[in-house]
Amino acid sequence: SSRWSLKGTTALVTGGTRGIGHAVVEELAEFGASVYTCSRNQEELNACLKQWKEKGFSVYGSVCDASSRTQREKLIEQVASTFNGKLNILVNNVGTNIRKPTIEYTVEEYSKIMITNLDSAYHLCQLAYSILKASGNGNIVFISSVASTTNVGSGSLYAASKAAINQLTKNLACEWAKDSIRTNCVAPWYTKTSLVEHLLENKGFVNEVISRTPINRIAEAHEVSSLVTFLCLPAASYITGQIIAVDGGFTANGFE
Ligand code: NDP
Repeated sequence: SSRWSLKGTTALVTGGTRGIGHAVVEELAEFGASVYTCSRNQEELNACLKQWKEKGFSVYGSVCDASSRTQREKLIEQVASTFNGKLNILVNNVGTNIRKPTIEYTVEEYSKIMITNLDSAYHLCQLAYSILKASGNGNIVFISSVASTTNVGSGSLYAASKAAINQLTKNLACEWAKDSIRTNCVAPWYTKTSLVEHLLENKGFVNEVISRTPINRIAEAHEVSSLVTFLCLPAASYITGQIIAVDGGFTANGFE
């Protein structure tokens, strides 16, 4: 039924060429949305756009470094013109990390993590507000992390940037409910993507992670994209301001 369809809707997913963002682009498109995405690598983006076209998906894209203020402005202009000024879904997926002890972060590293994870998502919400509102049915989904609520050795800066995203989810949900914009947040645990490839190559590390995870394995990107998609569906019309973990039970687990 139409409660379980995104037919006729428009979406922007940042960072859609790999990992969770890639899975989100495909799943939103499978449910009928027209999707716009971006990444920093033109060749990889072109290859993805070609594959999506072959699969029959309606996906547009352009290069944008989400950590650049002027490039974000340009991106939203392109999205607005592609979708005639109406955007139903904004998925703030881009994120990065540098793991190290707190006292070792340089000023440059601090800026890189905070700008990529928090400033970019915040500014994209500001920029997209009017086209989300104009759609009459807007949705924002942030990608946080279980590191936003629990110390998991991600580094304190990443954790703080994601915790800020969690609170932003709640404030925007309340501030923009009057504009028919819902705002939710998905908090994954370890997921097989290029971001954490180097960590997942370490068998000992993976064993430690899954030993604390009731569903004894690492997540696949499509297990995260399914929740992102659900939150954007009309079926989720009364859900806003929520931070939902996709973590195989990790955050529910104490010890036995
Ligand atoms: P990946 O690094 O695997 O993929 C990131 C995607 O975003 C790529 O398409 C990349 O393309 C693009 N991207 C990265 N930086 C920028 C930028 N500055 N501007 C535009 N595009 C960019 O990451 P994941 O899929 O693992 O992560 C997605 C989100 O999920 C992040 O917010 C991350 O913090 C979160 N997360 C991931 C977890 C995991 O275990 N994987 C766990 C918890 C949360 P390109 O590099 O070419 O620009």
